[in-house]
Amino acid sequence: MAQQFEDRFHRQFYYLRLSVTDVCNFRCQYCLPDGYRPEPGKPTGFLGLDEIRRVVEGFAMCGTNKVRITGGEPSMRRDFTEIIETVASTPGIRDVATTTNGYRLKKQVSAWREAGLTKLNVSIDSLDPKMFHLITGENRFHDVMAGIDAAFASGFEQVKVNTVLLKNRNSHDFRQFLAWIKDKPIQLRFIELMQTGQMDRFFAQYHQSGVSLRNQLLAEGWQLAQRRLNDGPAEVYQHPDYLGEIGLILPYDDGFCESCNRLRVSAKGKLHLCLFGEAGVELRDLLANDASQDALIARIRESLQSKKKTHFLHQGNSGMTPHLASIGG
Ligand code: SAM
Ligand code: SF4
Ligand code: SF4
Repeated sequence: MAQQFEDRFHRQFYYLRLSVTDVCNFRCQYCLPDGYRPEPGKPTGFLGLDEIRRVVEGFAMCGTNKVRITGGEPSMRRDFTEIIETVASTPGIRDVATTTNGYRLKKQVSAWREAGLTKLNVSIDSLDPKMFHLITGENRFHDVMAGIDAAFASGFEQVKVNTVLLKNRNSHDFRQFLAWIKDKPIQLRFIELMQTGQMDRFFAQYHQSGVSLRNQLLAEGWQLAQRRLNDGPAEVYQHPDYLGEIGLILPYDDGFCESCNRLRVSAKGKLHLCLFGEAGVELRDLLANDASQDALIARIRESLQSKKKTHFLHQGNSGMTPHLASIGG
């Protein structure tokens, strides 16, 4: 193995979040409220299978062992199952994860698992079908829930569910969420709403700190689990009476970025050093053939030297990220 990717703050990078498309069929209020629109004047070509293989190989050669395939909505890619296969067959990759809105889950999850998917995150912002519809723009709650059942039936031992905390939208539903995971091996991850470039009043109106959830969990006997290498910034809480777990992702909390272990590659082949960074470093010119592998690794390693210690969200600066669908959340 070549030397592990590491930045100036001695953070090591085991985890690649690879976006495979910007396209999405949902219209989540905090992400793509008007639906997906191609960027005017820019080509829409996303990384092909060979380019995906090359970029994942480059990362794997430098210590990356986990890849999350994301988007936009990754399952909108017709070759999504082949993408999973390609990533899973790369030497050194132990975990292949995806984050999905669950739209295609019920029909396709067993094929994804057979292709090598080892971890699954499904986004569900409310357990109330009407609120789910309001937040996502799609009346698909029951389909997505059936998709989660299908995931368990196809052999996943745990499913992670991402829920973006929204004041007066789902913030009162904490007890309902807890009841849901009592007897289900679901890790429910509450994510604090992050401000992005295209979000104006929405953030001010709906951002809700997750700190009160943490206090509530601790008061009710939930205990912080020991952090595993690949956990990243999520705090995971467990309780003896619950089969499920709670994860808290609180990007506005002090120290959130200290354990940063992830890098991102966009669907058009740009390296993003931070979820809220600048324009991204072009990698695509080095993905056209296998001969550029050393140059690819050298460019990533050099770029890492300019990775910042933390994001600048507290100063209201979300970098150049217009919405998280653009670089995969
Ligand atoms: N379309 C897929 C999905 O929704 O699961 C994958 C991409 S989506 C950008 C990845 C995750 O980012 C989702 O769980 C979504 O809820 C979350 N997300 C999107 N915008 C966000 C924001 N502004 N703040 C916090 N989480 C956000
Ligand atoms: Fe699509 Fe995911 Fe963004 Fe919702 S959060 S609009 S499902 S990319
Ligand atoms: Fe890493 Fe940036 Fe996320 Fe902080 S905000 S954990 S530096 S990617």
